[in-house]
Parts: sequence; C-alpha cells; structure tokens
Amino acid sequence: MKLAELGEFGLIDRIADRVAPSASVPLGIGDDAAALLPTPGTLTLITSDMLLEGVHFDLSFCDPHSLGRKSLSVNLSDLAAMGAHPRQFLLGIALPVGISVEFMDQFMAGLLEQAERFGVTLVGGDTCASKGGVAISITALGEQRPEKVVKRSGASVGDFIYLSGTVGDAAAGLCELRRGVRQGFLVSRQLDPQPRVEAGVALAEAGLASAMIDVSDGVLADLGHICELSQVGARVELARLPLSDQYRADCGTDPFVQALSGGEDYELLFCTPKQKAGQVEALFESQGLKVSRIGEITAGGGVELVTPDGGAYQPKLRGFDHFG
Ligand code: ADP
Ligand code: MG
Repeated sequence: MKLAELGEFGLIDRIADRVAPSASVPLGIGDDAAALLPTPGTLTLITSDMLLEGVHFDLSFCDPHSLGRKSLSVNLSDLAAMGAHPRQFLLGIALPVGISVEFMDQFMAGLLEQAERFGVTLVGGDTCASKGGVAISITALGEQRPEKVVKRSGASVGDFIYLSGTVGDAAAGLCELRRGVRQGFLVSRQLDPQPRVEAGVALAEAGLASAMIDVSDGVLADLGHICELSQVGARVELARLPLSDQYRADCGTDPFVQALSGGEDYELLFCTPKQKAGQVEALFESQGLKVSRIGEITAGGGVELVTPDGGAYQPKLRGFDHFG
C-alpha cells in the first residue's frame, strides 16, 4: 500500500496507535499542542537534528528500521552529552507521496524500539509530503538538575581528556557501504550508532565531567569546540586514540585520518579533573563500556596532536562541515 492511500491523518493515527502512554505526558499526539509535566527542580534540555536523504543517508543502503533508530539516537546522543535524562520527542517528517506504508511502518518500528529502550515518549510532530526525498527532523527533550548539567565550556587546564568506546568506525563503515559491503561491525556503527545515554547521565550525576560533547563531527572538530568555549587548548596523544580491531584492519596507511575527522561515532568526549580519574574509570568499568584517556587540557589555544614517536602530527582533514 502507498502512503497516498492512507493519507496524512491515516498515517498520524497509525503512528499514535503505537505510542505507549507516559505519566510525564498528560496530553500527547492528537491536539494542537502536547502538554508535558516537568520533574520539579529540573531544567529542560532541548535539542534538534535533521536527517536528509542524499545528505545524511542513502536509501540504497540504509534500511528504514535502522534509519528510524538512528534518527532518534543522534538526538539522544546530544542529550547524553549534556548529562540529561531523555524524556520526550517530536517527529517532523516529509515523505514522497509514492513511498510505501511498509517503509513508514519499519521506520516507526525502529524509532519506537529505540524510544522504548531509553524511556522516551513521542508526543507530537508534523507530517507533510515532500517533492524531493525523505526529510526527518526530531526535537528531543531531556531533564537534569541545573547544577548537574554538563556544558562544553567547563574544561580547565590540567583536566584529563577522555573518549568512550572507539572512534573512526562509523566513517570506515560508510566507506564499506559505498564499496557494496552490507554488514559487519563497521557498517553497523554507521547505520545504528548507540547513544551513550547511561554513561552521560552517570558522569553528570557523579559530577565527574567538567565539559562534555558527543562526537558527531570528528574528535578534532568536537574537541576544538570544547577548547573554544572553555578558552583552553588540548594535547592529544594519537597512540592513545581508541581504535577498534576492525577499524585498524580497514583504515589504510594513516589510521588517524578518520579517527580524528570521520565523525558520526556518537561517543562521548569529556574532560575530568585529574584527581577524579579513578572514579571515571570505575564508572565505565561498572557500565561495561570502554573509556580511554587520550590527552590533557592545556593553556595554549587549539588542539595539539602528538604522534606515537613524540612528533607533531598535521591533520589531513578537518571535521565535517555542511558548508565547508
Ligand atoms: P496542526 O494542523 O494543528 O499542526 P496536525 O494535523 O499537523 O495538526 O497534527 C495533528 C496531531 O498529530 C498533533 O498532535 C501533532 O503533534 C501530531 N503529529 C503530526 N505529525 C506527527 C508525527 N510525524 N509524529 C507524531 N505526531 C504527529
Ligand atoms: Mg501540523
């Protein structure tokens, strides 16, 4: 069946029927606006990300179920980087009229599966026809007590710099997809990134992160944002960058290019005062997630990169820039 047969309101009903009720949402999908019940004493953190066909995804190798999951994951990753508990989200979607209802069902199944996993409720959105490709815009809301929110601007000279998980995988996965590879670890890191929600919230609540960002544009660019807003510099030892075995096997002659500039890994990059290093490592150990100390915050401006033999490394690529 084509969407044209179902119609806009048929589609909205089909979406609304699948959404589970939530105590924090006295009024959800169906009225002109949703009503939310905030947790007393918390700030609302709100973030938005667009995913456009041809810019962010390619339907020739991205199945709708993964696309649904990823669309929510990239927003949850932003909330995680603030240390916020994710709560609700809005879904704006533009679809070519010829698209199948099955596409939308699978997209919603992936999206709502990820929503359930992280306890977030779909509370509304907007649906329209597209004369071009598929466009998705999600706005996600989270909560945290004001004193626990982690900004990009809090890093101090001498803080250790940490990264969760591994980096470069998603960029290498995209190269594999373009070569026709359709499965495996690197491909799944590109199509189905896992937002580090539990780690981000736990770091914030334990007061362990002085500054934090999620790696969407590459370590170099995203660490650059922390440095700029914190008015500090950073020194990164490339030998300490966490690289997966699969990435190492696939990354060509210079393993640092995509690890520094690839982006889309949605790992957490954060700073911690030195004396709290042990607590950070214990926290990640308890969550079963890898964490790596990759360098230190310095007084100088900019990001300095040190090669494994102690020399200076000149990055070959900047991070991702839509207009760059
Ligand atoms: P309006 O014309 O007042 O903007 P709509 O007809 O666009 O109302 O939407 C009707 C209801 O359906 C609203 O509650 C809206 O939030 C919800 N809605 C519309 N599109 C979506 C969507 N893609 N996902 C979730 N809820 C949606
Ligand atoms: Mg509308």
